[in-house]
Amino acid sequence: MGFFSVFYNWQVQRYEKHKSEMQSLGKCPDCRGKGMISVAPAFNDVYISPYECSNCNGSGLYSEWIGRP
Ligand SMILES: [Zn+2]
Repeated sequence: MGFFSVFYNWQVQRYEKHKSEMQSLGKCPDCRGKGMISVAPAFNDVYISPYECSNCNGSGLYSEWIGRP
């Protein structure tokens, strides 16, 4: 039980750090300013094409990301 809360807190802290880094760069934290999310294929026979980041509407801008509803 303790492990999961530690792991969860670690993930939250990591995300918060990432978020503030992206904020200082003015980039969307979800797509890292690319405007697209690319998913690494988990299996060799499965390919998922990159899709537009819905959290910044493909702009890759932090201001767009923070302004989402
Ligand atoms: Zn984005």
